[in-house]
Amino acid sequence: MGTIIKASCTCGYKTEELYYGAGMADHGSVCKVPALRNGSSGLEMVNIKKKMFYPDYVFYNENILSGFPNNSRTIDFYPIKLHTEGNLCPACKDYTLSMADVGCFD
Ligand SMILES: [Zn+2]
Repeated sequence: MGTIIKASCTCGYKTEELYYGAGMADHGSVCKVPALRNGSSGLEMVNIKKKMFYPDYVFYNENILSGFPNNSRTIDFYPIKLHTEGNLCPACKDYTLSMADVGCFD
């Protein structure tokens, strides 16, 4: 089961509902994780299991986007962990982006 998340920042940047992880049907081959493309100002959901096809993306479970150290609660989709606070905002470039767990999907 995947988790529906929303990202928002104090600067006003926010996303729509994002489908993190995978549903039942595609669990083996898909794990969507928020990511940023080099130079992009928008967060995108990218299948981390196909990471080799996205060399110019950095994922939010990596320290460069999640900040370090970051002791906030995590939203887990094993083995991926997303921090709920202190993530890099693609709009203002501060580590002030929050991710909230708003539901789940099959
Ligand atoms: Zn921001």
